[in-house]
Amino acid sequence: MHRSGHWGLALLCYSPIVFWALSKDIASLPLVVAGGVVTSSLCMLPDADQWLPIVSHRGATHTVWFTLLVGGLLGGGAFMLVQGAGQTMLNEWISSQTLFGQPLAVAVGWFFGVTGALVIVSHLLGDWLTKMGIQPWAPLWSHKHCLGLIYADNMIANGLFNALGAIAIVASFVLGTDLLQYV
Ligand SMILES: [Zn+2]
Repeated sequence: MHRSGHWGLALLCYSPIVFWALSKDIASLPLVVAGGVVTSSLCMLPDADQWLPIVSHRGATHTVWFTLLVGGLLGGGAFMLVQGAGQTMLNEWISSQTLFGQPLAVAVGWFFGVTGALVIVSHLLGDWLTKMGIQPWAPLWSHKHCLGLIYADNMIANGLFNALGAIAIVASFVLGTDLLQYV
């Protein structure tokens, strides 16, 4: 699948989080925007294996383990950043903040962890649809998961996912922020 299709699928998967976060607490808006940036910039991360010499294409970076690694690094990193900031200059402000009923560092950590893992999952989903398929459990279980519905360069499928993702992200933003009540 091409960038346009992967991006659309990533936005499609991110949409429920956007709706959930915004409808739960509108103060999460900056977080939701940052999550959108993460989603857009990491949706092709697994295909970095095309440029790396050691790993094979659709190898290690197209697995459940890589998904957990990215989610763990992003979530853990975000948590430590906010937690660390809370112990220094912005001490009192940050440690007094809560989001989604959790301390700010915990909420931000979970948010980026889940968002980071989800964007890799969306990439795997996209490649799973194609004829080439993926081996997401390798090397534990080398079974090839391959829906084989489309070729990766199918223009209609790529365009369709791109449009669906754009519609879903706008809809979940509008519904999550309850913008329609002002129309
Ligand atoms: Zn890929």
